[in-house]
Amino acid sequence: MTWSAPCARIDHAALRENLAAVRRFAPASRVWAVVKANGYGHGLEAVAATLADADGLAVARVEEGVRLRRAGVTKPILVLEGMIFAEELAAAAREDLAVAVHSWDQVRLLAEGAGLGAPPCWIKVDTGMHRLGFAPAEVDAVFEALAASAPGPRVVGLLTHLANADEPGDTTSAGQCATLHAVAAGRGLPLSIGNSAGLIALPAARGDWVRPGIMLYGASPFATRTAADLGLRPVMTLQARLIAVQRLPRGAALGYGGTYVCPEHMPVGIVGIGYGDGYPRHAPTGTPVLLNGVRVALLGRVSMDMIHVDLRSQPQAAVGDVATLWGVGLPVEEIAARAGTIPYELLCHVAQRVHMEHEGAAAGGTG
Ligand SMILES: *Cc1c(COP(=O)(O)O)cnc(C)c1O
Repeated sequence: MTWSAPCARIDHAALRENLAAVRRFAPASRVWAVVKANGYGHGLEAVAATLADADGLAVARVEEGVRLRRAGVTKPILVLEGMIFAEELAAAAREDLAVAVHSWDQVRLLAEGAGLGAPPCWIKVDTGMHRLGFAPAEVDAVFEALAASAPGPRVVGLLTHLANADEPGDTTSAGQCATLHAVAAGRGLPLSIGNSAGLIALPAARGDWVRPGIMLYGASPFATRTAADLGLRPVMTLQARLIAVQRLPRGAALGYGGTYVCPEHMPVGIVGIGYGDGYPRHAPTGTPVLLNGVRVALLGRVSMDMIHVDLRSQPQAAVGDVATLWGVGLPVEEIAARAGTIPYELLCHVAQRVHMEHEGAAAGGTG
């Protein structure tokens, strides 16, 4: 059965190669492969299985960690937001999920919920991101409070997150790294700092454990450097079918709002993908789409299930032809820039009704 639904092809060989690229950038670091948000939209369990060579997996939420354990993952798992409820603390302890501890609420929960078990804890230090974490001056008191609560949660590391590592000429990241090193002095604990941008751009951000996400999926974290320049290969290629071809007169206004008006008699293709599939509604006229290997332009407004494309360079295009929205041959970064967003959002937003085809996925164990 061939369906006309869009399809996200997931290239697991590329995923493995991108993990090898992480190791080239940070050869002395262990790797938390970040698989939050359903593996950045690529499928949590399938991505986890293919990343069996990572030292650990990082997720945002306890629930995601539990899902990985259910899938048979036995390696270390780090929950980057930690827990806020006692039930989550109990689940983290039961499933041996390491948790980021970033707030006094969590310290109290760990003290009061000691009977629920003690997951390994990474203390999160706010060195400038001002999202999660303790101020550097609070960290001594956090250690004291945790040591005082019986049986005493095990603190196994210190982490921080960089705010500007993706910006060329960024100077704040070095200061953030220095702050974490100062807080960590004398504690003998492993440190984790760099995300994709940090670990590529800044040797000081490599630390004992790096936390790459976007680069594993083959997208560049930088607006000014391409994935290919960094030795990364796209993992997801999003495709859909040409479902109709219209031959329209000069003056025909296309789609909702009629924002594109045909300047001449011309063939216009309708591709069966829209914002209901995760294609960005804000992609403007001119956004490239690959049709039979050639770039054609999106025209007018993106609908829920369809887009219009300019077929003047492809008059022979026929219903059933395959269009690539991003991936091999058309970097997702380029589409994101056109739509005023970042590749992270496009990848995460691929909808459930898009078929997923996993190519070269690991057979068997999930390590
Ligand atoms: C998402 C996330 C990462 C991964 O970031 P990328 O930019 O995708 O490499 C690392 N650390 C934390 C705390 C995160 O939230």
